[in-house]
Amino acid sequence: MDKIHDIVIIGAGAAGLTAGIYACRANMDTILLEKFVPGGQAALTAFVENYPGFPDGISGFELMDSMRKQATAFGLEIKTGEVKKIDKQDNFFCIGTTTCKLNTRTIIVSTGVHPRALNVPGEKELFGKGVSTCATCDGSFYRDMDVAVIGGGDSALDEGIFLTRFASKVHIIHRRDKFRALHTYVKKAQENPKIEFHLNSIVASINGKNTVESITLKNVTTGEESNLPVAGVFMYIGLVPNTKIFKGFLELSDGGFIKVNENLQTSVPGVFAAGDVRETPLRQNITAASDGAVAAYSAGRFLEKIE
Ligand SMILES: Cc1cc2nc3c(=O)[nH]c(=O)nc-3n(C[C@H](O)[C@H](O)[C@H](O)COP(=O)(O)OP(=O)(O)OC[C@H]3O[C@@H](n4cnc5c(N)ncnc54)[C@H](O)[C@@H]3O)c2cc1C
Repeated sequence: MDKIHDIVIIGAGAAGLTAGIYACRANMDTILLEKFVPGGQAALTAFVENYPGFPDGISGFELMDSMRKQATAFGLEIKTGEVKKIDKQDNFFCIGTTTCKLNTRTIIVSTGVHPRALNVPGEKELFGKGVSTCATCDGSFYRDMDVAVIGGGDSALDEGIFLTRFASKVHIIHRRDKFRALHTYVKKAQENPKIEFHLNSIVASINGKNTVESITLKNVTTGEESNLPVAGVFMYIGLVPNTKIFKGFLELSDGGFIKVNENLQTSVPGVFAAGDVRETPLRQNITAASDGAVAAYSAGRFLEKIE
C-alpha cells in the first residue's frame, strides 16, 4: 500500500502556506497541493499595506513568495495538482488530483474563495487596474478620487462607508430599490455626505483603456443608460467559496462556506479548514495565516490522539 502522510494541505495561499510552516516545523510529514502556483489571491495583489511587520508595505507577490520560501525551508513539499476527489477510508483519506493520488491521515482545506463576477464588458480586462474586490486592501489608492461600489448587502455598504475615508465621492450602485444590508449600515451610509446612491441601477460596462475611467449604468426601471466617471470600481455582489468538491463530504453554510469549530475542525474528524474558505467574519491575509497555524496545530493534536 502507498505511503500515508500525516497532513495534506489543499491550497497554497496565506492559510495553506502558514499551515505548511507550522506542520513541517512540528516535524509532521506534510504535502501541499496547489492547482496553480503558490501564493493564492494575495500574490495577485499589487501592494499589501496591512500585513504586520512591513511598515512600508510589501508587494503581494513578495509577501507570498517569502511565505513559500519559509515553508519549503522547513521541508514542505509543494505539488502541483487540482484536488478533484476525496474518499474516506477506515482510518485515512485518499485524495485524487489531476496529477497524483495521495493518502493522508488528516487534511487541511485552504482553497479560498473567488469573488462573484458581474460578467460585464471591461471587468476582466481592468481587474487590478481599478476593478477591485477589496476596499480594505485597495481603498487608500483612491485618495480624492471618485469610486463606485457595486452591491446592496452589508459588505457593500460597510466597505462603501470605509472608502469615504479616502475617496472624494463614493457612488453605491444597487440593482433594487431597497438594501439587503442591516439598517445601521444603511442609516450610516445615508447620513454620509460623500455617499451617493444609484438605486434600481446595474452596471452595463466598465470602461477605460489601461485603468478604469468610467462605468456605464443602466436604470432597470426606465432602461435609460448613463456614464459615470470613476477611477475605481469595488464589487461586493458576493464571494464564492471554492468548496464545490466538498459538497456532500463536509458540512457547509448556506453560502457554501465550510463550517468549523474553534479548533477549525470540520464536520469530518481529521479534516480541518482554514482561511477564506471557512465561515468567518473577516477574510484577510492575517486571519488566513492565523487559521493556518491553528489548523496545523489541531491536526497535530488529532494525530497524537489517533496514534
Ligand atoms: C484584489 C484583492 C486584494 C487584496 N488585498 C489584501 C490586502 O491588502 N491585505 C489583506 O490582508 N488581504 C487582502 N486580500 C484578501 C486576501 O488575499 C485573502 O484573505 C487571502 O488570500 C486568503 O488566503 P487563503 O489562503 O484563505 O486563500 P487564497 O489566497 O484564495 O488561496 C487559496 C488557494 O487554493 C488553491 N485552490 C483552490 N481550489 C483548489 C483545489 N481544488 N486544488 C488545489 N488547489 C486549490 C487556489 O489556487 C489558491 O492558490 C485581497 C484580496 C483581493 C482579491
